[in-house]
Amino acid sequence: MTNKKQGQNTSIVHPEYRAPEGFASFPTAIHHASTVLFKDVEAMRSRSWLNKSAYTYGLHGTPTSFQLEGEIAHIEGGKHCVLAPSGLSAISLVSLTFLSSGDDVLIPDNAYGPNKEFGMWLKNSFGISVRFYDPMIGSAIGELILPNTRLIWAETPGSVSMEVADIPAICNAAHSRGVLVAVDNTWSAGLAFKPFDHGVDISMQALTKYQSGGSDVLMGAVITRDSELNNRILMTHMRLGLGVGMDDVYLVLRGLQSMKLRFEAHDIAARKIAAWLKTRPEIIKVLHPAWEDCPGHAIWKRDFTGAGGLFSVLFDEKFSEAQTDQFVNQLKLFKIGFSWGGSHSLCVPYRIETMRENWQDKGILVRFNIGLEDVDDLIADIEQSLNLL
Ligand SMILES: *Cc1c(COP(=O)(O)O)cnc(C)c1O
Repeated sequence: MTNKKQGQNTSIVHPEYRAPEGFASFPTAIHHASTVLFKDVEAMRSRSWLNKSAYTYGLHGTPTSFQLEGEIAHIEGGKHCVLAPSGLSAISLVSLTFLSSGDDVLIPDNAYGPNKEFGMWLKNSFGISVRFYDPMIGSAIGELILPNTRLIWAETPGSVSMEVADIPAICNAAHSRGVLVAVDNTWSAGLAFKPFDHGVDISMQALTKYQSGGSDVLMGAVITRDSELNNRILMTHMRLGLGVGMDDVYLVLRGLQSMKLRFEAHDIAARKIAAWLKTRPEIIKVLHPAWEDCPGHAIWKRDFTGAGGLFSVLFDEKFSEAQTDQFVNQLKLFKIGFSWGGSHSLCVPYRIETMRENWQDKGILVRFNIGLEDVDDLIADIEQSLNLL
């Protein structure tokens, strides 16, 4: 309905909007906004973007993103959550918030590659000391802490080589020296590992993975329990102008409803396939935290309540890279591609010795993301490809 007295442009820009009275449905509505409207100047002046009880500008969120932040904080066992446009931007948001020139940060040698790359950039361009540590270091990390160490990153398990870190030991050593611990908790989706119950100060998730579940969205989150830490993260988030699209937020909200069931299905399927791989002579180690081959297996049993669909194997060293490449190429159901957590199975070979300061194992590392296909079909696919070797 247009107002006949107004010009066409005015009536298009100000259409008669009828609130959806008498309508109810399950999904969170997608509220798009750059401009957020205030009822008067007083309301505009009194609202602060730092205070999440009020809306101020699209960059600081709409009811849709506030809803997702609340749900992610709840799953993770935290109180506050800040969304970022990718998992990697969530990592850089944490590092930029808690590090200044002259500070020191410790990053595990098995961390997500771009986290280490971001660390090298901080070191080379911003005067921050960055050191990589053995992910199995445990409480001995205390010996690496310097007076200017401000932050320790952890990733558990490492998303390529799968070592499970002793987070409580790292947190104790860090906290007794006043150092913060941030964990990349993407592997567990916040379901199988509750970081704040083990002493972590800041948790980070790549929502791109299980939370989305669709291999179609990029998003990240930083979760805290402490409001002072959260406010510092929000300041950096504001200064960097990080925002997320509400259509993407909606997709993640939709994915969350089935996340626990999907995660459990990935876990069951991955363990069946890992067990089958363990029987094959081509494979010398199954790097899945539920197997003793995996460094930190006992820690996983102590601290985790499950696993997801991501694990790696080491081929016998008698197989050349050309052969393991052929193995990956000859898979039919498993596709070749980065990322994980979606319904499609993926397989990627890594040149692990080039990624690590001190990698001891021989044999080529191949990583599997087990999707939601029928397990027997996935095993048959791996079997036909192994048999071609
Ligand atoms: C994928 C991933 C990230 C980065 O997430 P993006 O959304 O792809 O930037 C960070 N950490 C881990 C462990 C990941 O697997």
